[in-house]
Amino acid sequence: MGLSLKDRLIAQALDEGFSACRICRPWDVPEVPGRLAEFLSLGRHGQMSWLAERAHWRGDPALLWPEARSVIVLAESYTPQTDPMAGLSERDRGVISVYAQGADYHDLVKKRLKRLARWLIAEAGEGTEVKVFVDTAPVPEKALAQAAGLGWQGKHTNLLGRELGNWVFLGSVFTTLDLPVDAAEGEHCGSCRRCLDVCPTDAFPAPFQLDARRCISYLTIEHKGPVDEALRPLMGNRIYGCDDCLAVCPWNKFAVAAKEMRYRPREGNHLPDLAALALLDDAGFRERFRGSPIKRIGRDRFVRNVLYAIGNSGEARLAQVARDLCDDPDPTVADAARWAVARLQG
Ligand code: SF4
Ligand code: SF4
Repeated sequence: MGLSLKDRLIAQALDEGFSACRICRPWDVPEVPGRLAEFLSLGRHGQMSWLAERAHWRGDPALLWPEARSVIVLAESYTPQTDPMAGLSERDRGVISVYAQGADYHDLVKKRLKRLARWLIAEAGEGTEVKVFVDTAPVPEKALAQAAGLGWQGKHTNLLGRELGNWVFLGSVFTTLDLPVDAAEGEHCGSCRRCLDVCPTDAFPAPFQLDARRCISYLTIEHKGPVDEALRPLMGNRIYGCDDCLAVCPWNKFAVAAKEMRYRPREGNHLPDLAALALLDDAGFRERFRGSPIKRIGRDRFVRNVLYAIGNSGEARLAQVARDLCDDPDPTVADAARWAVARLQG
């Protein structure tokens, strides 16, 4: 007897470079509505207003496309080869989150998902419909991944799998096909609280709850304007994202290796020199981060982050770099520059 459509689909997904592929129903989303509603009602989403605007979909993915009968959930590992926290002591250099040091995963994952969706239509035949989502539509991918058995949402709120670890990108393909589903995964954090204890800004009010307004990933990537002065010293030299809570998770020692070479750090993106980054103008920034997710935040927000890192560096020689930006046309950059100068002098 030949392989079932589901078995062939999984083999095709692994061939595409995904690390795992499992299936759930769109209405099989555990717990999310309550957790999301609390997160939003307490304002923990900060300036990410789209989360509130699309909450009804996130809470119930069956509403996104009522005809869908199955969700194919895919995980792709980007497990780093070196310790991402090692650079935190190199104070005149910036630390960029692992996922952003290489090529933009949105582009790569989306291409793979689309190819897989086309393959599925060709295999399943006439009448099969599919829709592809990757981190851009309001799909609660972590909850769907848990429903499909890929892992669970750890105390750090990210998806974590026994064989995947937590360095994973998620994507999903919704389809009208009625595919056999996989068993959901339970939670296996146990008494561990390493991720909660390592967080430099105390961004976890409780296990499984994140206050994004204190999280360095949010502050460096999503937050517009000046960052609360009380939080700036805690950001250290993290200039784009933060990986601390992911890096300390003990489940990573079982994690599958990343297959995609393009996720490896691009030349110059591993511990770049802060002084050189502070000099970037708009055109220089766009050129430097072409094809990288960093490009999306724009020069002003990026240089703001670099100046906070300069302020935290303890390197008096960098004060002049900051001083030169005190009259920057962007008021947030100018404010960050003045803060850095004062901190280095004080
Ligand atoms: S990403 Fe960093 S700042 Fe955000 S919760 Fe994790 S450890 Fe804390
Ligand atoms: S570090 Fe520990 S508590 Fe945090 S997600 Fe990993 S296993 Fe769970």
